[in-house]
Amino acid sequence: MRILVKNGLILDPDSGLEAAGDLYVEGQQIVCIKTGGETRGRLPAWAEQIPAQNGEETVKEIDATGKWVVPGLIDLHVHLREPGQEYKEDIFTGCQAAAKGGVTTVCCMPNTKPIIDSPEVVTYIDDKAKTACGVNVLSVGSITRGQKGQELADLQGMVAAQTRCKNLIGKGICAISEDGRSVMDAATMLQGIRAGKALGLLVFSHTEDDSLAGTSIGEELIVARDIMLAKEADSPIHLCHISTEGSLEIIRRAKADGIPVTAETAPHYFLLDKSSIGRDGNRKMNPPLRRKEDVEAVKRALQDGTLDVIATDHAPHSREEKDCGYEQAMNGVVGLETSFAVSYTVLVQGGVLTPLDLVDRMSCKPAEILGLDRGSLGVGKIADLAIIDVNQQWEIREEEFASKGRNTPFAGMKVYGKVTHTIVNGTIIYAAE
Ligand SMILES: [Zn+2]
Repeated sequence: MRILVKNGLILDPDSGLEAAGDLYVEGQQIVCIKTGGETRGRLPAWAEQIPAQNGEETVKEIDATGKWVVPGLIDLHVHLREPGQEYKEDIFTGCQAAAKGGVTTVCCMPNTKPIIDSPEVVTYIDDKAKTACGVNVLSVGSITRGQKGQELADLQGMVAAQTRCKNLIGKGICAISEDGRSVMDAATMLQGIRAGKALGLLVFSHTEDDSLAGTSIGEELIVARDIMLAKEADSPIHLCHISTEGSLEIIRRAKADGIPVTAETAPHYFLLDKSSIGRDGNRKMNPPLRRKEDVEAVKRALQDGTLDVIATDHAPHSREEKDCGYEQAMNGVVGLETSFAVSYTVLVQGGVLTPLDLVDRMSCKPAEILGLDRGSLGVGKIADLAIIDVNQQWEIREEEFASKGRNTPFAGMKVYGKVTHTIVNGTIIYAAE
């Protein structure tokens, strides 16, 4: 396919490019970027033939005037619920939700039924993803068999599985994690980190002491523990859904000490605090919403780079599981279709991040953490990109979601930033009407 993305604001943190111009895609690749007087790559011959003379459309032209053109967003933390809980979400609808949110790659967490702990489940997910809209689905394997916290899962088997992930990063799964819970036995967790290191697998830490679920100290204990374990194993670790000021202080110190730790947060932790919960089951997630001071600390940490990544922890549930009051509701909120808009509105319009920094936290850094050759608009790179109208204000309405999950904590909010096109491997997989 030939695509000309015309006159957009091209934002590529990888090269520092932030300029209005045209971007040309041929086949699967970005072949040329033309901004002002500068041309990167070679202008394709077909650039002269637009519009097509003979009536057939040989080039798809997208007018991106006033819009952002960014590397496709990469979400390190997504629950696709399949296999086993397709009433909440399935791989098909989860991928559609991702595409609608400008997300071109998702890492799906292992707490499915059955758990992602064997090459069979990894292959099953990969087969399903092939029939979805084209979003890259990378599985995260569980650390222990059945997420029981005892013996290690078949890590070697999962690494060897023939999947899209294998084509992209050389391994059948992109990471290991017990997400949904922690490996509570420290020795077993250390064993998992070491086994992961031997296989080149990053470990995602769920950062919560299960016996103190929902408390700040419960998060901070495992943040500290897993940083110490990573240091002991001399292996990198990625910390999921960080939400407290105390956790951020620990991470800041660890980074200053040169420990290879990266960390993510999610939009609800920099927009909402616990005073907004009321009885709303859609404001229940794990970790829970924290104090105002924590919300401010999360923003500061995104600004100074203590937090590397914005992920969603997209966790769809059925209406019955959420519309039953805060106490009874299950943990988790959806996020794929709102993450960019909420982040842009709060962080860029709010003066916390520059446009390039926002794209860095949502695309470049996640790619770097995964060792994935994406998250860049360099000439010759695979064309995974999103086109976003940042001037368009819209109201978040759950009934318009592509996800089966309606459990957003942002319902009714007015935000800026509407994704108009999502492109994966040089193919338009989503276009807003
Ligand atoms: Zn999660």
